[in-house]
Amino acid sequence: MESVLISGGTIITMDGQRRIINDGAVLVQNGRIIQVGKTAAVRDRAEVEIDARGMVVLPGLIDTHVHLAQALLRGCADDTALIDWLQKFVWPLQGNFNATDGKASAELCMLEMIKSGTTTFLESLLHSRYGFDGIAHSLQDSGMRGVLSKTVMGLPGYGDEKSIMHPGMIEDAQTCLKEVESHFKNWNGRADGRIRVWYGARSLGGCTRELYQQIADGAKKLGTGVTMHLSEVQEDVRYTNKEFGKTPAEFMDHVGLVGPNVVFAHGVWLTEMEWQILARKGAHVAHCPSSNMKLSSGIAKVREMMQCGVNVGIGCDGGPSNNSYDMIREMKTASLLQKVRTMDPLALSAETVLEMATLNGARALGLQDQIGSIETGKKADLIVVNMQKPHLTPAFNPVSHVVYAAEGSDVETAIIDGRIVMENRVVKSLNEEKVIHDANERATKLIQRAEIGITPKWTRE
Ligand SMILES: [Zn+2]
Repeated sequence: MESVLISGGTIITMDGQRRIINDGAVLVQNGRIIQVGKTAAVRDRAEVEIDARGMVVLPGLIDTHVHLAQALLRGCADDTALIDWLQKFVWPLQGNFNATDGKASAELCMLEMIKSGTTTFLESLLHSRYGFDGIAHSLQDSGMRGVLSKTVMGLPGYGDEKSIMHPGMIEDAQTCLKEVESHFKNWNGRADGRIRVWYGARSLGGCTRELYQQIADGAKKLGTGVTMHLSEVQEDVRYTNKEFGKTPAEFMDHVGLVGPNVVFAHGVWLTEMEWQILARKGAHVAHCPSSNMKLSSGIAKVREMMQCGVNVGIGCDGGPSNNSYDMIREMKTASLLQKVRTMDPLALSAETVLEMATLNGARALGLQDQIGSIETGKKADLIVVNMQKPHLTPAFNPVSHVVYAAEGSDVETAIIDGRIVMENRVVKSLNEEKVIHDANERATKLIQRAEIGITPKWTRE
């Protein structure tokens, strides 16, 4: 594997002291960070040298809640609330997916993530029909680091709404459990450890109590993680209260699904008592501000949750709920949303939000010893952001610029596991033209098959 020296840049290390090194250098060898310091002090040479003058170097961003199969659905379900959004648009479209669509969507999503600075992601719900192996091969080829969670479900509903799921989305519980085990065996730890396999539990109303318990047991047996949507909408709270006489987090705790290996997406309606359960048990939350705003789900009390001791990362969610997979944009949204909710400009600072997108994300995925900061010995997952732009001038505080002023397209270079995956905005691991062409072609056919009309509200000539 090639050695890489990045020099002359401003390094936001995210280390224990949160050092920012002006005119700094990072030396990468065999996939790991060997040296970090002033350019003058890093004397070793490397096979590839990147001149980062006028650039900011920071850890690759970690997206803790992604739907790879929804990139193909971008813009296909706008201006509607969650249950309708699922029932009328997302499920019928995804229920018509085949493995070719799954691969095309995953590659489009990964391409977008790489081009906007994300190096690691947690995919939360992969249905068998998306083609797990094809997507895992794409992940391997893309050079990204990712967790692929295979859907586990047993009931075709959401909350109290029984049997509302599209037939193409329904899966059998025991088959799901067996598939997680076989995917784990085949893929977990592959691609030099870049690929992980988790359980993706369906939302409340999609699994029986026993199935949630089986998921908890299965994860314990395999020593792996679980992710699921929780308290995304008020329906979740109504459902567990009525069905089990408990709040959503109390119920999940009751079935053994609250622990350090669990990431709950959204957590909009969690109460203080539930934050305490999550904090005590070391479970994590993926905050998805754009998705919560667009689907009118509500505003998560992120500041209070974190003050209570819950580890919170950031997620872009999906193509029809966000509608982009740009973590730089998502960081800004997360910060602004807390400020306006609390009417306190200090509610979520640029520094805190950058911690959420790097260190907290790494911790949520159980990878805190490997990624999330630029430190000697860690895996070399880092991005280089070009600051020589009008919207990033003048540059006094690089953290402020990365969160409030930068755009995903300012990311110039991405290194993952020591490999240069994108250089000068050219992605080396994926054929960009082909990925975009295939995605357009598959999406057009998919919409026809699903018989969903997606037309602009205004006259189009
Ligand atoms: Zn989601």
